[in-house]
Amino acid sequence: MSRRCLLLLLIAALLITALPAYAQGTITVSNDQPLLEFPDRLTFRAKFQNDRPIEKVVLEYGVDQWTCGTVIAKAFPEIEPGNEVAADWTWEMKQSGSQPPGSKIWWRWHIFDDQGQEIVTNRKEVVWLDDQHDWQTESGGDINLHWYDGGSSFGRELHKSAVESLTNLGEVTGLRTDKPIDLYIYGDTADMRDAVLYEPGWTGGLAYSDHNIVIIGITPDQMDWGKRTQAHELTHVLVGQLTFSCLSYIPTWLQEGLAVFGEGGPDEPSQEQFDEALKVDTLVPVRSLSGGFSEDPAKVDISYTQSYSLVKFLIEQYGQDKMLDFLRTLRDGATVEEALQQAYGFDIEGFEDAWRAGIGAQPRSGSAAKPTLVPTIVPTFAPASISIAGPTPAPARERPTPTPIVIAQAGEPATVSAPAAESTSTDSTPIIMIGVVAAIVILFVAVFIFVRRKQRIDV
Ligand SMILES: [Zn+2]
Repeated sequence: MSRRCLLLLLIAALLITALPAYAQGTITVSNDQPLLEFPDRLTFRAKFQNDRPIEKVVLEYGVDQWTCGTVIAKAFPEIEPGNEVAADWTWEMKQSGSQPPGSKIWWRWHIFDDQGQEIVTNRKEVVWLDDQHDWQTESGGDINLHWYDGGSSFGRELHKSAVESLTNLGEVTGLRTDKPIDLYIYGDTADMRDAVLYEPGWTGGLAYSDHNIVIIGITPDQMDWGKRTQAHELTHVLVGQLTFSCLSYIPTWLQEGLAVFGEGGPDEPSQEQFDEALKVDTLVPVRSLSGGFSEDPAKVDISYTQSYSLVKFLIEQYGQDKMLDFLRTLRDGATVEEALQQAYGFDIEGFEDAWRAGIGAQPRSGSAAKPTLVPTIVPTFAPASISIAGPTPAPARERPTPTPIVIAQAGEPATVSAPAAESTSTDSTPIIMIGVVAAIVILFVAVFIFVRRKQRIDV
């Protein structure tokens, strides 16, 4: 870790719209390049030269992702007022929660002169990624696969498999991506964990559907497991794209059932475990699979496999259009009960009865009696954790999409007085030196927690 902590990464190579310096009217902006110390912090910094004294500098920044509403952070760097001003402000990921590797962070500066005239610099963007790895990229088929270990054939094979997974998912489920998905393949799970702060001891992969990013740790000898895990995580991204809204709640059995379906079904031991549960009638009630899965490793696999069976039943019996209707109805804010009724004409118990009949299971115990509707308690954070142990890696059981929105819910863009891309010079009047403006980032904890919870889609 120390190597990472010490890494001061000049990101010029990563800057998408990098210019060493540019003049906007009478202002000159130089060194407008953030310093990345992945994964701990990012320092925005720039120098401004103006023919009128600069009194205040405001930094605006954000992350390229889907959010509920406009989410823009503002920071107020402390400066020495004058015609030449240097400003910097540091985003501490340890305080805010980290951004996913590969996420695109944008920023721009608002510069105010002594007459209150505002100048806005061009919006720029940087990719939040460690450069200690020699990342290579294979693109095509709506997948950008980035990897650094295992040689070129390793990356190309994973890319080919990911593209095939996307194609299959589209054909079988109707789920399709509307823009390319970035897949970051770390050399192993330890490297992956190091790149993401604040994650519990999960293994496998992570799907950041709101960023269109997947990260997985795959060693070169885990090719088969890696391919399955890619397909699993890609399914989460596609489901996330289709169902993104500020209203949707996708039950875990649907989320994970689709992902295992996307993998091509459970592995053999998991399927055998399910078959045994079917035989001895120890299947889990559908309602209990709506929230987080059990933390008991013995019960987790059956939860995934049964979720797969439920989804497979819905798709094979009723077709992909109904599944898409079901997902869209959930996106629009319907409860699971309402969405099932609307798409399939049954409630949760009716669904369970039909599924049990469909797979040859015994009728649900007490199904003759009126079911007591006990709301499922849905934990916001599903902390279940399965380790990869032994030489054979366990199937991926990745954690929720942990997209910590560190940035604050800013006010309306009305606070921004000029368009992002356009900057103008101001006229001149005498300098009035004003003191230092204290810097505090706006951080609305409620918004942070809300958005963070909304985006935990996985278990
Ligand atoms: Zn999953």
